This record gives sequence, structure tokens and C-alpha cells, in this order.
Amino acid sequence: MSIFVKKVSKKFGNFQALDEVSLEIKDGKLLALLGPSGSGKSTLLRAIAGLETLDAGSIIINGRDTTHLDIRKRNIGFVFQHYALFKHLTVRQNIAFGLEIRKYSRQQVKRKVEELLELIQLQGLGDRYPAQLSGGQRQRVALARALAVQPQVLLLDEPFGALDAKVRKELRAWLRRLHEDVRVTSIFVTHDREEAMEVADEIVVMNHGRIEQVGTPAEIYDRP
Ligand code: ADP
Ligand code: ADP
Repeated sequence: MSIFVKKVSKKFGNFQALDEVSLEIKDGKLLALLGPSGSGKSTLLRAIAGLETLDAGSIIINGRDTTHLDIRKRNIGFVFQHYALFKHLTVRQNIAFGLEIRKYSRQQVKRKVEELLELIQLQGLGDRYPAQLSGGQRQRVALARALAVQPQVLLLDEPFGALDAKVRKELRAWLRRLHEDVRVTSIFVTHDREEAMEVADEIVVMNHGRIEQVGTPAEIYDRP
């Protein structure tokens, strides 16, 4: 699914959080939105998810204008910095949650959950509760839960931001491999340049609600 963001603007009071932002994400690509805190990255992500009303502009997903489409009809997977796993549900139950409300059969849910546990390499931990997992493991579960319903777009808002440096590095490489496997069109928000370079096919640099640069990691930065 391709995504077109066309001249999207958003103000909070007098503050211009997004100023005529346009970008394109090609089908199956992983794009990093890189920029300092306050540059508008989360607002743009939320706009694409349908969580912000826009002052101007439009968002086209796979040829369809979704600007005014209800969020529940957008089929978007979302992963936040602070894992929003249900703490009274096991890993399996967390992953199954979206499938169950979509009325998949028990057999389908079971198969899909086992598939996803394998994908996130947590086969042995399906019956644990979130509190019994490390931070990195929880984020993998959050990702599996987002992927379970086969979203047309995956949005990741600083998904590794709360983890320590070592785990963060491991998860970057892991996400890169996972994306090569799954190939869902994804946007990854980060303020960490190295992280953007490592995970993304393309980087969009934001500052003050505007796009400053767009390119592949190699086009934007000279790698030593
Ligand atoms: P980033 O994700 O790049 O850190 P954000 O998109 O979260 O930036 O925020 C951009 C700016 O908009 C920030 O200054 C933030 O305080 C402001 N902002 C975001 N959401 C709201 C809101 N609901 N009301 C008022 N200001 C907001
Ligand atoms: P992030 O860490 O993703 O940049 P923030 O901590 O800036 O997120 O914002 C978290 C939530 O608070 C978001 O829903 C955002 O829209 C809202 N928000 C951010 N800044 C403001 C603000 N100045 N006034 C009101 N809401 C805000």
C-alpha cells in the first residue's frame, strides 16, 4: 500500500505543528521520520492514523482518500514508545486480541498467534504476562499484536525509545529483518539518526513542522 501525504497542515492554537507537509511512501517500504523533539513527527503519524483532524491537506492510502475516514476503517497497526499491552492478558492473549474482536475462528486465531510468536522469536513465552517480560520482549509482543490483523500500514512511534542502548541496537537489526520478511508499508518515528539510518529504506528529516530533506540513508549522510 502506498501512502501519499499532500500538503498537510495542523495548528495547535497559534503553534504550527505541521506546515504543508507532503511526502510519499512506496508500497512495502520502511520510512523513517527523523527530527528533533517537537518537530511534528508524532503529529504527522497521528494524522496518518486518523487520530488528528487536519486544518488542510489530505492523506491518500493506496489510492483512496482517507482524510475523513474513521480510524477503525483504516486498518492501521500502531506501536507506541510505551507499550500498551494489556497487563492482565498473556502474550498469546495480547496477540490474539485484535483477531478475536474481528471474529476470526478459534482455529484461525490459534494458528495466527503461533505464527506470530515464531516471527517475534518468543515461542516459549506465550503464556507469560507482560510483567514477566523484558522491555524489548514487550515491544516485540506489541509489534506482533499490531501485525496480527494484517494492517495495510504499520506506524511505529519511537518504539524502542524507552529501551536501553544495547537492546535498542538489537531490536533495530531485528526490525530490519522482520520488515524484509513482512514487507508492510511502515513509518518509523525516531529522533536518533543512527537508528533511522539502520532501519529505514528512506529517511524524511523534519524540523519545525516542515520536511527538510528526503532520501535514502546513503543520500542523506556520508557513511564513514
Ligand atoms: P515530535 O513527535 O517531533 O516530538 P510532536 O508532533 O509530538 O513532535 O509535537 C509537535 C509540537 O506540537 C510540540 O511542540 C507539541 O508540544 C505540540 N503538540 C502536539 N500535540 C499537541 C496538542 N494536542 N495540543 C497542543 N500542542 C500539541
Ligand atoms: P511524543 O513523546 O510522542 O512526542 P508527547 O509527550 O509530545 O509525545 O505528547 C503526548 C500526547 O500529548 C500526544 O497525544 C500529544 O498530542 C499531546 N500533547 C503534546 N504536547 C501537547 C501540548 N502542548 N498540549 C496538549 N497536548 C499535547
